[in-house]
Amino acid sequence: MAFKPANNIQDLQYFGEFGGVNPSVSDSSTYTFISAKTMFDTFEGNADGCYLYSRHSSPSNLYLGEALAAMEGSETATVTASGMGAITPVILQLCGVNDHIVSSRTIYGGTYAFLKNFTPKFNINTSFVDIIDLASVENAINNNTKMIYCESVSNPLLEVANIKALSKIAKKHNLKLVVDNTFSPLSISPINLGADIVIHSLTKFINGSSDTVAGVICGTQEFIDSLRNVNDGACMLLGATMDSLRASSVLKNLRTLHLRVQQHSFNATYLAEQFTKDGIKTVYPGLKSHPSHTVFTSMMNKKYGYGGMLTIDVGSTENANKLMEMMQDNNLGYLAVSLGFYKTLFSAPGSSTSSEIPDSERSEMGLSNGLIRFSVGLDADIERTYNKIKNCLISLQLLEKKKQDVVML
Ligand code: PLP
Repeated sequence: MAFKPANNIQDLQYFGEFGGVNPSVSDSSTYTFISAKTMFDTFEGNADGCYLYSRHSSPSNLYLGEALAAMEGSETATVTASGMGAITPVILQLCGVNDHIVSSRTIYGGTYAFLKNFTPKFNINTSFVDIIDLASVENAINNNTKMIYCESVSNPLLEVANIKALSKIAKKHNLKLVVDNTFSPLSISPINLGADIVIHSLTKFINGSSDTVAGVICGTQEFIDSLRNVNDGACMLLGATMDSLRASSVLKNLRTLHLRVQQHSFNATYLAEQFTKDGIKTVYPGLKSHPSHTVFTSMMNKKYGYGGMLTIDVGSTENANKLMEMMQDNNLGYLAVSLGFYKTLFSAPGSSTSSEIPDSERSEMGLSNGLIRFSVGLDADIERTYNKIKNCLISLQLLEKKKQDVVML
């Protein structure tokens, strides 16, 4: 039967303390106990339903975690203060001294920097591979490997990981498959495809209003409990805890995610198709020309489309900068990093979100200087948006002006 992530969210029923239609916000850092014995048991992790201290868990955070677990089809989830606050404890919980990770080489720059520059301090080393090339993934595994790490749709190149195939490899070698699903919420459900742990930066599409940084880890009860363990849990001890007020606001935004993702996908598909017709080098998983179009199609929850992210290549940093500035001047979106906002956001990853990756590696993976990453917004009239972008491209001589191209707005 088809996996229905939005139904799973819809089917949760919450009542607030006073019968409110939203759960009450737990505005406390600490909790009282009637008996000292129960406090002891809670520390030991043996007092279900009791709250101790909000770095450990809070009712608001548990509500949000429960909704995100329902969305991803995992046993449970824990929310964190940022996407990096979700990624780093997962890695440090699963790996110790001398352990090894096989990671996709095209991942968010912050994750790349953590694996490349930070974890070697603990002698945790990473082989960065082309995640599309399954043989190279398997060849990189050694006796110390503990995990395969990838993004379902990668930042910024929009490479698509074949989660089913990677899961087979992970199971064969007894490894955990950890998938960052930030770029494709609802469209792809990695746990349903065999992933062990799913991470999101909630900062992006899931919260959708660019007013917070936040993250989540979805996995088994056993793994999430281990992250929260007071003695050796990476979430508990590293302390990247989400605030309860924020958890309650992210939960409210989550309820419109299905509508937003559909509109992001619709708009991105329209732009990608038009840009392609204009002869602009465009990468979008929904285009048949995308090398992993078939893989994405085989994995997706059809209703939600191919997501809101696309890239175009305009040849040079100078062209990219001019175009982005002109689009912003014309109120077509913002020249800003991040994604998942109601307005279109655009940035040149080579000089921003992926600048942590050295030049030589960037060219090897195809991250060119003229690349612009678009997080396509929720524009009600995407045809008008396209025509305005086209006028910018023409006036910068990035597109040939034909008679029929002069668009009156
Ligand atoms: N994962 C991906 C794919 C991202 O794009 C980002 C941020 O851009 C992160 C994780 C990190 O998330 P955060 O900024 O919420 O820490």
